[in-house]
Amino acid sequence: MEKETQRMIDEFCSKMGIGTTINNEVTARITELENLGMAPEGDTASLVAAMIYTVNYRLGQSRISKATGVSVRKISNINREILKKFEEINSRTDFSKYSLWMTWKRKCWKCGKIIPVAINTAGWDFNPFFNPSSEDGGMWSKKCDNKIEEQLKRMRIKREMRYSKTIGDAYMANICPFCNNIQGDGPLHEESIELITSGFSLPAQASVFGFFNDPKLLLFKEGELVAEYPDVSTFSRNYRKYIELK
Ligand SMILES: [Zn+2]
Repeated sequence: MEKETQRMIDEFCSKMGIGTTINNEVTARITELENLGMAPEGDTASLVAAMIYTVNYRLGQSRISKATGVSVRKISNINREILKKFEEINSRTDFSKYSLWMTWKRKCWKCGKIIPVAINTAGWDFNPFFNPSSEDGGMWSKKCDNKIEEQLKRMRIKREMRYSKTIGDAYMANICPFCNNIQGDGPLHEESIELITSGFSLPAQASVFGFFNDPKLLLFKEGELVAEYPDVSTFSRNYRKYIELK
């Protein structure tokens, strides 16, 4: 992305009191279209204004128009063009080949040792590979992709099919490799929420459950690890280069 485009995104976002989440998403989406040679026609200001509208309808076209000086009609036209391009990209992408996992280190509740854990992020809004019609239940998945589990094992992450009282069913759970105890899905879910909402930048020992840190996102394509990302926004800006279009 050109420096000028980024400068304009930052300027518009600060004018409208938009936080880093939307700023990052606008940046990621424009980069995505640029990388695919699909950037919509129009000057940078109009593109940025329309993209802000595309990723957050709640701001409203007239408010964006007032803050950016781009006419409502122009925003609406480019917005339509952007949506069409994303539709085209999505229709040519086989999302089922990809999955995005999250890993971090935590203190085992039983023996107190620091252990790595991993969950599938299917269902989180930053995960573009989630297919609602598939049976994948994210971190409570009963499905076990042997290829992925094999690679997680190499990272010393122990996972097994275990029964959870909380959900009243069995699922692929994280297990402490030292004491063999299941790491409860409640605490893991809480920790993943805290890590994601803090942009993966929580200081160590910030959790009510004790120590946890060192989060990473892992991108798998057909069961093979293709990339690692230190946080969600780095993933959003860069994952497209691994995504093959039909
Ligand atoms: Zn343990």
